[in-house]
Amino acid sequence: MPRHFLVLGAGISGLATAWFLKKQLNADDQITIVDQRSTVGGWIETQWCDGFLFEQGPRSFRLSNSSQALFEIIEALDLQNQIIFPSKAAQRRYLFLNGRLKVLPMHLWQIPFFYSTRGWLQAVLCDWMAKRRECEDESVASFFTRHCGKEWLEKIIDPMISGIYAGDTQSLSLKSCFPELQKWEQQSGSLIKGMWQNKKSQISLPPLPKKFAKSSLFSFAGGMQTLPNAIGAHFSNSLHLGCTVQALHAHADHMVVQLSNGHRIQADHVISTIPLPALHKIISTLPAFNLRFASVVVVNIGFKSKIADLNGFGYLVPSKANTPVLGCVWDSAIFEHKDCMSPNVRLGMMLGGMHHQDAIHMSEQALESIVQNALKEHMGIYQTPDIIQIHRAKDAIAQFEVGYAKNKEDFLAATKNLFPRLTVSGSSISGVAIGDCIAHAKQIAKECAC
Ligand SMILES: Cc1cc2nc3c(=O)[nH]c(=O)nc-3n(C[C@H](O)[C@H](O)[C@H](O)COP(=O)(O)OP(=O)(O)OC[C@H]3O[C@@H](n4cnc5c(N)ncnc54)[C@H](O)[C@@H]3O)c2cc1C
Repeated sequence: MPRHFLVLGAGISGLATAWFLKKQLNADDQITIVDQRSTVGGWIETQWCDGFLFEQGPRSFRLSNSSQALFEIIEALDLQNQIIFPSKAAQRRYLFLNGRLKVLPMHLWQIPFFYSTRGWLQAVLCDWMAKRRECEDESVASFFTRHCGKEWLEKIIDPMISGIYAGDTQSLSLKSCFPELQKWEQQSGSLIKGMWQNKKSQISLPPLPKKFAKSSLFSFAGGMQTLPNAIGAHFSNSLHLGCTVQALHAHADHMVVQLSNGHRIQADHVISTIPLPALHKIISTLPAFNLRFASVVVVNIGFKSKIADLNGFGYLVPSKANTPVLGCVWDSAIFEHKDCMSPNVRLGMMLGGMHHQDAIHMSEQALESIVQNALKEHMGIYQTPDIIQIHRAKDAIAQFEVGYAKNKEDFLAATKNLFPRLTVSGSSISGVAIGDCIAHAKQIAKECAC
């Protein structure tokens, strides 16, 4: 009997799940994807605005051990020739500290130039004397205070966490956000020793990225949405866009989904990649999962004339600084996208996160004023931008807080028990990095197709 699989959500998790499912299924099995938006990609969205290429969400793919599945799709869609790598200058990253931008050390030997000799010697000593904590999980703050001291936590770790999770080190879980660090501590006690020992263990990837990758980041000449668009085109006959899922009913031998356009879709199995709060609205009896989300405001800023020399990746701001600005990515200094006019200076400023939860509700005027101040105070830019585009990413980034791993396990087990024909996935389950979403999609597809 041919089977019908229904994927909820056409973000990268949903698209990649459909992609890998198709590889596993028989020719007469059917896949349908539904999404409430009129375009595919979810948070991955590239827009052209008055000659500027602006990313509304992620700005780059990061290479990691989980990138294998991502490259499988890129190769199969023949997108490798559209890959672009960052400029050499983008290796330089900055921190906004004590009223100015300071180069962030990217190698151990650069640390003495960033920090006073006393400061880094103290951190090394702290790491050497750190006591292993025999507990199941602990906060990122507790781990780094033990290994590097409070000053390093506040000045270096905290802004880095803002850059990835827009989160709070006091509540994020070390085990769920940085499992390898927990492993290093368990193996060698010291963070520095663990880092040194694991330096040799290279990221294992197929031949394609080894050939290309001199960098840990990449994008596409036409922007990030190139990938979801290409996967979506592959499924054009099975995509139902502009349809909000309103209800999901479980029956013994099938599932029925009710859409906002009045249609009902019957399927043998449903894979949900829509955000968990949205799924809880659709299924009132879904087991609870206490998960918080960070909201971020992405402000894209464009200048048609040359401005101050911004050579680098951009900068991060510690949460102790008195501003809702999390950091700024110097987009045009990192990637050279095709069809951009010249000069074309693009910056992406992020505001909000868990430390500044009010930012998402601020008026456009208030946000613009914060952005203009940051341009002056952080970067010394006094010109008025030619364009400022504000994009609100509400409840966008799942916060993997202490206890997350156990809560997730319990939630997935209880859901499977109650709804055997439903698989819950998406970034709240897989991890927020795009590579993690895709790697998890591959694993889910394999399990569901069996
Ligand atoms: C501002 C920002 C910057 C980021 N930067 C990076 C980065 O540089 N690198 C990186 O690797 N990751 C980055 N991330 C994380 C990454 O973009 C996300 O984790 C990933 O795109 C999530 O994909 P997803 O498919 O799981 O979820 P989503 O993209 O949220 O897709 C879910 C889809 O479900 C749909 N949906 C919701 N409710 C319903 C409903 N009721 N009915 C039908 N459809 C529904 C939505 O419309 C959406 O299309 C960033 C995220 C944000 C917000």
